[in-house]
Amino acid sequence: MSTHHSHADHHTHDPAAGTRWSDHAERVLRDAGLRTGGGRAAVIGVLAGEGCMLAAQDIVDRLRTQGGPGANLATVYRTLDTLRALDLVHRLDPGDGTARFERAQPDGEHHHHVLYADGAIEPFHDDELEQAIHTLAGRLGIELVGHDVVLHAVPKG
Ligand SMILES: [Zn+2]
Ligand SMILES: [Zn+2]
Repeated sequence: MSTHHSHADHHTHDPAAGTRWSDHAERVLRDAGLRTGGGRAAVIGVLAGEGCMLAAQDIVDRLRTQGGPGANLATVYRTLDTLRALDLVHRLDPGDGTARFERAQPDGEHHHHVLYADGAIEPFHDDELEQAIHTLAGRLGIELVGHDVVLHAVPKG
């Protein structure tokens, strides 16, 4: 493969990817001199166990269900801001007014998404699209440091 991305099938749930990410996240937080316990650890746990993106409110709901610490929106947003500042989390506004968050894998492995009219979100990966984006970046003469792709869709009837 000529791109720097790996090409695992993102439609199958990969628990190892969550563990790789949470180990990485804890190391980065420690290196930054930040605590890894409490509400921060709880949010990392939720994101590590989730295959795709979540709204902050979804994270709060899961923390409430678990009965863990930090189960309120302000704390979750604060933690997400910290994780984003350290490039541990991707924030995506898919265009429906609700920001979503998902793990930023240390190896650059990532999703693109289909957003359905009813708000459902499905991840996808496409090698030809990755290639096309990297080719385009070359043509534009830019150094690509990231990219988001959201397809807005309705199920084909
Ligand atoms: Zn995703
Ligand atoms: Zn991509």
